[in-house]
Amino acid sequence: MDKKLIIAIDGYSSCGKSTFAKSIAKELNYIYIDSGAMYRAVTLYCMRENLVRENEMQTSAIVSELKNIKIAFRYNRPSDCYLTYLNSENVEDDIRSIEVASHVSRISMIPEVRERMVELQQQMGRDKGIVMDGRDIGTVVFPDAEIKIFMTASVEIRAKRRFDELAGKNIVTTIEEVRRNIVARDIADENRDISPLRRADDAIILDNSRMSVKEQMLWFMKIIHKLKDES
Ligand code: C5P
Repeated sequence: MDKKLIIAIDGYSSCGKSTFAKSIAKELNYIYIDSGAMYRAVTLYCMRENLVRENEMQTSAIVSELKNIKIAFRYNRPSDCYLTYLNSENVEDDIRSIEVASHVSRISMIPEVRERMVELQQQMGRDKGIVMDGRDIGTVVFPDAEIKIFMTASVEIRAKRRFDELAGKNIVTTIEEVRRNIVARDIADENRDISPLRRADDAIILDNSRMSVKEQMLWFMKIIHKLKDES
């Protein structure tokens, strides 16, 4: 397909959105943007500045720090991936920690944080040819995206996948802790006032509980071909 598209992928925590989105971007030669990494980078910054703790969050200080937070994605040839940079520092590993995961949903509830991230995300999609995954991509960031997918999978399978991913990075945790974090984030993401996680009316549902990445890609290519035939 010659015309460049915007592909929006939303869904629950740890259901393989980024693996799927990266495969699509590779197949179509598109840019992949992990919007969750942006909220995680803001969270890491706030943690380092002691603006967020277990039961406390200094919302107005966080809002005034936003102007000092610069987030960028840079291509890394050896890993063939885009890595997340926070104020010119590679934070790709740090933002995946359990600590960041346990604070990120609260940080991403702050309206000013969302406004700033959405603005940046929309700038990144200006030239189309982009696959972006997150929670509000099809509903808020790109409501006119040509393809919208809403992903889901069972909690058990998501916890196992995330646990394996963390173990692969030598991050010590238990499946139960990962499961609790996933469930807590889903509840927080679905129930926040601004841009809650929800399926856009025109999004196609993909339950990948029992699908390999290859099967998901075959499913996706059918959608692309159908769109091509219709245009
Ligand atoms: O996608 P990931 O699990 O890395 O996202 C981390 C958190 O960032 C989510 O649990 C959610 O609270 C927040 N997020 C969001 N909107 C997005 C992407 C992520 O609120 N578009």
